Amino acid sequence: MMAAGRAAELGATVVLLEKNPSLGRKLLISGGGRCNFTNAEPDVRVLADHYGEARHALLSPFTKFSSTETLAWFAARGMPYKVEDNQRAFPVDNQAKSVLAVLDRYLAEGKVKLRLGTEVLGFEMAGEEQTGAKRVTGVRLSRETLTAKRYLVATGGTSHPETGSTGDGFRWLSDLGLKVRFPEPSLVPVAVKEPWVADLAGLAFPEAGLSAWVGTEKLEFRKGKLLFTHFGLSGPLVLNFASQLSKIRSRTARQGDLVLKVDFFPHSDAKTLDRELVELFTSQSGKKLKNALGGLLPPRVIPRLLTLSGADPEKALAQVTRVEREGLVAVLKGFPLTFKKLMDESRAIVSSGGLHVDEIDWRTMNCKKVPNLAVTGDLLDINRPSGGFSLQLCWATGWVAGTASSYS
Ligand SMILES: Cc1cc2nc3c(=O)[nH]c(=O)nc-3n(C[C@H](O)[C@H](O)[C@H](O)COP(=O)(O)OP(=O)(O)OC[C@H]3O[C@@H](n4cnc5c(N)ncnc54)[C@H](O)[C@@H]3O)c2cc1C
Repeated sequence: MMAAGRAAELGATVVLLEKNPSLGRKLLISGGGRCNFTNAEPDVRVLADHYGEARHALLSPFTKFSSTETLAWFAARGMPYKVEDNQRAFPVDNQAKSVLAVLDRYLAEGKVKLRLGTEVLGFEMAGEEQTGAKRVTGVRLSRETLTAKRYLVATGGTSHPETGSTGDGFRWLSDLGLKVRFPEPSLVPVAVKEPWVADLAGLAFPEAGLSAWVGTEKLEFRKGKLLFTHFGLSGPLVLNFASQLSKIRSRTARQGDLVLKVDFFPHSDAKTLDRELVELFTSQSGKKLKNALGGLLPPRVIPRLLTLSGADPEKALAQVTRVEREGLVAVLKGFPLTFKKLMDESRAIVSSGGLHVDEIDWRTMNCKKVPNLAVTGDLLDINRPSGGFSLQLCWATGWVAGTASSYS
């Protein structure tokens, strides 16, 4: 949408083909329906540093359309925004549809011809004898072939295929002989083996810790926002940890269970937490243990916490032994769950994989080997964390690809 609108703004005649009956289905579910539409990091280099090995390549598009431009662009088109923690930017009305509305208007202003409910089946190709380069000569639809001077493919990754992104572009690009890494889910929630985790579904912890253990070895620890779901764990902390957990699991597959321990108090060490419990237990000595922890954690997690700690929930606080209290501290700082698997594409935020960054001319987003074909967004093989970085990649690459229509 960004590329089509930009090309049209600069005078191109543009046709946008979309197989769904409406545009932007994935955009509408982004950010839980609020759409974290960019990350408001003002320094282009720091922004680019979030994209792993693609950071150098992305300096070119980000210099033309960084998150500062994204914010100004949407604001100038009537969408005020706000910036929340970790520089995550949202429309001020918390509505993803406000982002889509700006893009819809942009397309209408440029008179982009929308052909909704139109599935692209593939490309027609020709080789150029003199240069050896390939060219796209048409786009195959069910009943016709469309021809154009330039083509852009933005069919997205494979996450949430019900939104329309079913990975078609990966196959087409690979069939053209370009280097494509076939996608696997990335930024994806984690399923755990304990069925009782469903009792905790919906509980969110703005700042929790999560460590990965095999046997007595602690392999990794991260902090961030954690969410319990009916199958396991999600939230930015887990989404950003998922690929690493998958690698750890493959590496340690023969060494027994991979245990994920949730630290509900990552900013207090065990001693400090124990002292706080001593104070709490002394001040409310007549209360039963099961009724005393409500001020520390959501009530739904407490029965499970007590079961795991081995402490007797019916005991009066005055009678809780030091060993029981220390057991409780251990579980508060290491609530154990057993890793089962990463969830599949249907739950992923983005899929990893895609067109190799070396295949792209970053000044135009055209493929070096197929110069009249541009590629943008989730089709590119670029790792990034959650926090608005995926859509920033889409806006910047779309903008550059659209702009290039005026000089190709
Ligand atoms: C649940 C969820 C939450 C997310 N939240 C955020 C967030 O808050 N912030 C953020 O930065 N990113 C977020 N993302 C990621 C972000 O939505 C994507 O990076 C972005 O939508 C990718 O845009 P795209 O244009 O590359 O592809 P898509 O948005 O996937 O669009 C591709 C379009 O191509 C169409 N298409 C596919 N094949 C064909 C075909 N053969 N013929 C015709 N049309 C076809 C599809 O129907 C689809 O409409 C989220 C993703 C998910 C799944």
